[in-house]
Amino acid sequence: MSALTVTGLGKSFGGVDAVAGISFELRSGELLALIGPNGAGKSTTFNMINGQLKADAGSIRLDGVELVGRKPREIWRLGVSRTFQIAETFSSLTVVENVQMSLLSQQRRLFAMWHPAADERRDEALALLDRVGMKAQADRPCSVLAYGDVKRVELAIAMANAPKLLLMDEPTAGMAPGERNALMALTKQLVVERGMAVLFTEHSMDVVFAYADRMIVLARGRLIAEGRPLEIRDHPKVQEVYFGT
Ligand code: ADP
Ligand code: MG
Repeated sequence: MSALTVTGLGKSFGGVDAVAGISFELRSGELLALIGPNGAGKSTTFNMINGQLKADAGSIRLDGVELVGRKPREIWRLGVSRTFQIAETFSSLTVVENVQMSLLSQQRRLFAMWHPAADERRDEALALLDRVGMKAQADRPCSVLAYGDVKRVELAIAMANAPKLLLMDEPTAGMAPGERNALMALTKQLVVERGMAVLFTEHSMDVVFAYADRMIVLARGRLIAEGRPLEIRDHPKVQEVYFGT
């Protein structure tokens, strides 16, 4: 069964269709790239999946459970994690505290962070940080980290939710090519290890071709092509709409 099943998903703003009834599926263990020019509807799609925006039409099912109509926090607890184009952490907290917060909030035990015994689940957080190569910096405040390292911490925070689905909005934006490949290679390993599904938007076609198992192409809110990266690259409609040739 597919991890994520999106059917007839739609959203309009002031009568204009930002997303005009799209359908796609995503299996566990799969990295699916969502691409398309600016204004195509990529962010709107992400925001509907994680509940920041309510869909006007259609359905979004995660392992058969309907997400439309649920609040972002509930969707997060059902196993949808998200990373942002500009990585977000609590910069006044340390690296390990950020991951502990995420572990505790999954259990609805956020208050435990301010409890005298706040080292709750520290070992588990350290294990996740080890996995993303950030254990050595566990006790540093996030505010002093290099940007590429913040992205790794953000990934550990997302993994602390034990996601079935990870949404990544331009994961490699603002990163140098070496860092980019390291982050995507790590993501790919995590997908295999944990059997989660990843949906990501990406401007760099190099990244898409290197790491996506499949891709879907949006233009003006419509899904115009779907397939393996090499099939899509030569698709005439995609050439026209996306690559401008
Ligand atoms: P992408 O992420 O692919 O660049 P978006 O999903 O951000 O595209 O936007 C799709 C379309 O919806 C665009 O035409 C955009 O102007 C419009 N749009 C997005 N969010 C809003 C909003 N909150 N209010 C009005 N229009 C919006
Ligand atoms: Mg966008």
